[in-house]
Amino acid sequence: MRTQVLIIGGGPAGLLLSQLMHRQGIDTLVLERRSRDYVLARIRAGVLESGMVDLLREAGVGERMDREGIVHEGTYLALSNRGFRIDFKQLTGGSVMVYGQTELTRDLYQARDAMEGQVLHEVGRVQIHDLDTDSPHVTFTKDGRAQRIDCDYVAGCDGFHGVSRKTIDPAVLREFERVYPFGWLGILSQTPPVSEELIYASHERGFALCSMRNQNLSRYYLQVSLQDSIEQWSDDAFWDELKRRIPLAAAESIVTGESIEKSIAPLRSFVAEPMRWGRLFLCGDAAHIVPPTGAKGLNLAASDVYYLSRALQQHYNDNDDHGIETYSATALSRVWKAERFSWSMTRLLHRFPDQSPFDWRMQQVELEYLESSVAAQTSLAENYIGLPY
Ligand SMILES: Cc1cc2nc3c(=O)[nH]c(=O)nc-3n(C[C@H](O)[C@H](O)[C@H](O)COP(=O)(O)OP(=O)(O)OC[C@H]3O[C@@H](n4cnc5c(N)ncnc54)[C@H](O)[C@@H]3O)c2cc1C
Repeated sequence: MRTQVLIIGGGPAGLLLSQLMHRQGIDTLVLERRSRDYVLARIRAGVLESGMVDLLREAGVGERMDREGIVHEGTYLALSNRGFRIDFKQLTGGSVMVYGQTELTRDLYQARDAMEGQVLHEVGRVQIHDLDTDSPHVTFTKDGRAQRIDCDYVAGCDGFHGVSRKTIDPAVLREFERVYPFGWLGILSQTPPVSEELIYASHERGFALCSMRNQNLSRYYLQVSLQDSIEQWSDDAFWDELKRRIPLAAAESIVTGESIEKSIAPLRSFVAEPMRWGRLFLCGDAAHIVPPTGAKGLNLAASDVYYLSRALQQHYNDNDDHGIETYSATALSRVWKAERFSWSMTRLLHRFPDQSPFDWRMQQVELEYLESSVAAQTSLAENYIGLPY
């Protein structure tokens, strides 16, 4: 078998790249370790920057998002019982779209099917070979049989635990990491969201986030200890704790219900450099992870795909390799800025185990400053809606 661009990973990054390439007449094949049902059952991100929204429309997968997604022109920040709004529209002219990663992935799979795009599921033992030559190839197993695909390029869209990043020569690869000493306990409930916009709440007891997927599907999070387990958190215990951490008006009006999903995610900042090695490109979580506080993980996967799709189009359609040569530096420049924003939001809103009373005061006064300063709010808003591609 042969393809032009072999894509490893059928998550949002891999599917979106495949879709954009196909529309430019460039042949791709996607290898995905899991079944489609498994991929579609994962509950993850839900806030899309406007750059990503445009890219999805360009890929021909924006129709349902435009119909069912909810445009947010602002967000609330709260400190104990006090809250204030950051008005994205007024401060920057921009907005974000609330549309679940699960729905987006479903749209991408449907679009791939409609164009007869090739996605091979439940492949095993994926290995990448000869990346430093002009003719790399990938081997894997499917239904117990060994297979080989030759290609021009490999796009590593296989997430943090994938094989692509690990294929890069350790003498070249540099990794930067910060692991946070807490996690996020998240629940999904079929209840109307407590607020029309997200509420990011800093509290002495820890951070809380009120988010949503649609008008009858809410996503709520609590900062918890990494030692906590799901079993320790009954639905009642979750709702009681959430009500303690969010402003009183929200706590009194929140509609609670049975959770339909509950999970604890650790928080990590991570960047791998370079994002290109020979004929391999890294995209999305394969190259970087952000704590979810700034809603940047999925959006960074999209901006990588934007740069890589342009680079490959230039290569195949214009015989110009400038985009390929500069892909790593261009993508990393935006990645590091989003890393900074996600790290600063995490630092601002969470309680850290080793935090001194001085540190807690600093967080409080930073939020008070943010409440009072248009300049500070503008900076937060322009990062939240997404820096330009
Ligand atoms: C639990 C969780 C919650 C999250 N919540 C948020 C959130 O609230 N907000 C936010 O902005 N971001 C969130 N994120 C981050 C966001 O979901 C990711 O940034 C996004 O999924 C990145 O897309 P991706 O395509 O790069 O990687 P992934 O979605 O991880 O897709 C990678 C794909 O590659 C496949 N794969 C892995 N290894 C192989 C292999 N060897 N061979 C073939 N296929 C392979 C995987 O099965 C997977 O389907 C969350 C992430 C997690 C894990």
